[in-house]
Amino acid sequence: MFVCQLCGTTVPPRTPAVRVVTRRRPKQYPFRPNANVFWRPDDDGKMKERKTNDPGGVGWEIAEQALACPACAATVPPDG
Ligand SMILES: [Zn+2]
Repeated sequence: MFVCQLCGTTVPPRTPAVRVVTRRRPKQYPFRPNANVFWRPDDDGKMKERKTNDPGGVGWEIAEQALACPACAATVPPDG
């Protein structure tokens, strides 16, 4: 039992709460050289430490989320 943070009503017991994202913000991830370290056999079968770069890029970060009742959660578009 909880109070929905979107419509403010108290939902009946045993109703699952749904966490919905109410605000997102764009996020830039930097290029990181040699960020991934792993071991892989070379041509002679010896394990060698290898590194690859993390390309970085852009994405979305959750800025705000709310606990909602299933009815409110259904009205929120999945991509915010
Ligand atoms: Zn609600």
